[in-house]
Amino acid sequence: MTHETAVLKAREIAGSVLAPSAEQNDTAGRFSSEAVQSLGQSGLLGLMLPADLGGAGLGPRTFAEVTATLAEADASVAMVYLMHILGTATISAARPSAAQTVTPILEEIAAGRHLSTLAFSEAGSRSHFWAPISRAHRNGDGVLISAKKSWVTSAGHAQSYVVSALAPEGTGPTDSTLYLVAAGTRGLSVAGPWDGLGLRANASAPVVLNDCPVPSDFQLTDDGAGFPAMLNVVLPLFNLGTAAVALGLCRAAVTGTTSHLKNAKFEHLGQSLGESLPTLRAQLATMQIETDGLAARIDDLVDHLEKPRETTMLRVLEGKAAAGEVSISVTSAAMRVCGGAAFSKHLSIERLFRDAHAGAVMAPTGDVLREFIGKSLLGIPLF
Ligand SMILES: Cc1cc2nc3c(=O)[nH]c(=O)nc-3n(C[C@H](O)[C@H](O)[C@H](O)COP(=O)(O)OP(=O)(O)OC[C@H]3O[C@@H](n4cnc5c(N)ncnc54)[C@H](O)[C@@H]3O)c2cc1C
Repeated sequence: MTHETAVLKAREIAGSVLAPSAEQNDTAGRFSSEAVQSLGQSGLLGLMLPADLGGAGLGPRTFAEVTATLAEADASVAMVYLMHILGTATISAARPSAAQTVTPILEEIAAGRHLSTLAFSEAGSRSHFWAPISRAHRNGDGVLISAKKSWVTSAGHAQSYVVSALAPEGTGPTDSTLYLVAAGTRGLSVAGPWDGLGLRANASAPVVLNDCPVPSDFQLTDDGAGFPAMLNVVLPLFNLGTAAVALGLCRAAVTGTTSHLKNAKFEHLGQSLGESLPTLRAQLATMQIETDGLAARIDDLVDHLEKPRETTMLRVLEGKAAAGEVSISVTSAAMRVCGGAAFSKHLSIERLFRDAHAGAVMAPTGDVLREFIGKSLLGIPLF
């Protein structure tokens, strides 16, 4: 698979599987298993895995474009995909002693038969995912984990969860370890429904672990090395992926608004809305400018990830913070420009508007990212 064929496959799936059911799935809060199946069959679930495991061996550029393409049709599915790619990257980066256990799982992912996700956020530490309240306890060779994970995308649908917990002997709030917990593990259960304002079709429900036994070969990082894995493996791709979801939402808002301005008529004037009102044309133009600005920012972030340099972490932090604002701004403008038609849900604009708000809530939130950027500019330690 090349970059071009991967994006083409994403476009085909977006058009044939995602777009036709996005509206109904959003209304019903229904997780799209068909979408995951199509992504698996097309090879996109193994997008970033190396070829010797059956993966496509592609990088952040393709990941961003595929995610944005999916989000343009259905941001809920794009978020499921994003969390899967992150789960997969974390499993793939497992310490050498877990290699024998994780290799067949990575092969299953590449074959499109395994969906993974991250279970970091906890009810106790809220958006501060880097500081789990839960602690793993020694249990023979392995550990027992009890935790209240507050939001887990694909909860009840994923085959595995990458779970954080404080290391058994950890002394500080970030001394965490990452573990791979299979969906059927004793003590793991989905603890409630998912009924969010946006991203309603991605099953981001709470998950409870109650004395879940995790054998030592399912321990992905060394004891206490969960935090560096969160920062180095998860954060760059998560921020890039959420920025790509934001871009897809912006593109869909521009397309939807353009179509409305062309097709809705002032019959008494014999003109379309777009022909009649320069204010609407100006707002549409602003939406386009902001969308293209976000695309350029994502290109720059990809370049920084492909060729790491001193400014890479700054770009990673900026990327998600900026994308969250842009997607809220562009979809809010779309709501205003499309007026009553958007407000009364005759267009998909209001779904885009609701979905866009999730990005700013997801940790690291826009506020936290600003805190990190400000502190790092001033030379103040982040944690
Ligand atoms: C759709 C969706 C899917 C999700 N999927 C997952 C998932 O798969 N896995 C997972 O682990 N988590 C997931 N999450 C959880 C998410 O990452 C956050 O942990 C969660 O949204 C916490 O929200 P909160 O409002 O309770 O946080 P709070 O910490 O209560 O934040 C409340 C407010 O305080 C602000 N704030 C907090 N700390 C600071 C600070 N230091 N400086 C400045 N402002 C601050 C925040 O920006 C926010 O505005 C998901 C969330 C959503 C919405």
